[in-house]
Amino acid sequence: MEALFLPDFQNREAFLRRFSPAERRYIGRSICRRPIEALRIGCGEPRVLIAAGFHGTEYLTVLTALEFALEYAEAPQNEVWFVPCVNPDGTEIALHGCESAGKRRECVRQICPDKNKWQANARGVDINHNFDADWEQVHRRERAMGIDRPSCTRYGGAFPESEPETQALSRLCRRVRFERVLALHSQGREIYWDFGEHTPPCCRTLADKMAAVSGYKVACPEPIATGGGFKDWFIQCFHRCGYTVEMGLGENPLPLSELPKEYPKVRELLRVFVSD
Ligand SMILES: [Zn+2]
Repeated sequence: MEALFLPDFQNREAFLRRFSPAERRYIGRSICRRPIEALRIGCGEPRVLIAAGFHGTEYLTVLTALEFALEYAEAPQNEVWFVPCVNPDGTEIALHGCESAGKRRECVRQICPDKNKWQANARGVDINHNFDADWEQVHRRERAMGIDRPSCTRYGGAFPESEPETQALSRLCRRVRFERVLALHSQGREIYWDFGEHTPPCCRTLADKMAAVSGYKVACPEPIATGGGFKDWFIQCFHRCGYTVEMGLGENPLPLSELPKEYPKVRELLRVFVSD
């Protein structure tokens, strides 16, 4: 299978049909009942996970995960799982506006009519603030910033793991017991690897290796971005390595035309991540 950069996001289903039924499975449904799909490619240890599409406007990450999954399927070594789009409703809202939210279209419009700002799920919860990692602290910080209700970004929900998208991913991790995970976001060309005392020391080493092949920087997050995130939860829950990679440079949403330039860097980084 040759590499394919999707000119049109609508072709996602056609793209997914390039994977065998045995490689595809559903791990949950979004608020608007869109399927959340996982791909399992290869077998054997270590089992690792690459997840993308947490935030609506970061649809470049979805295409990157799909593209890399397709490449990896040509010569798999160990078992790699992909969840290319954790937040399918948010992605559709960011691409096509409130109408994509079905019955929730009026709520979405009232929360934020500008699709280019939409990061949350269809209920206005930011999935990457909804994981159960120091969630109370994250919640307090949100309120201090005036974010105390559904919003297009940074509202962590009424309680940790309140959202079906968050539940789908944490359920998968509890079941499969990944050796390490990587979450793709945009933007900044940065790699985050640390979350408090449970971070294994070896996590920094792999972050440095990924930085060396991609030109991305190893970084520490701003306080508002700490906690509640998928990698934070994974590190805290399993005491194993979890990474956030902020791909691309510019202002979200990064245009799809950025993908051919950025993908080669991320591909090298992901190759190191899966095979280390
Ligand atoms: Zn993000």
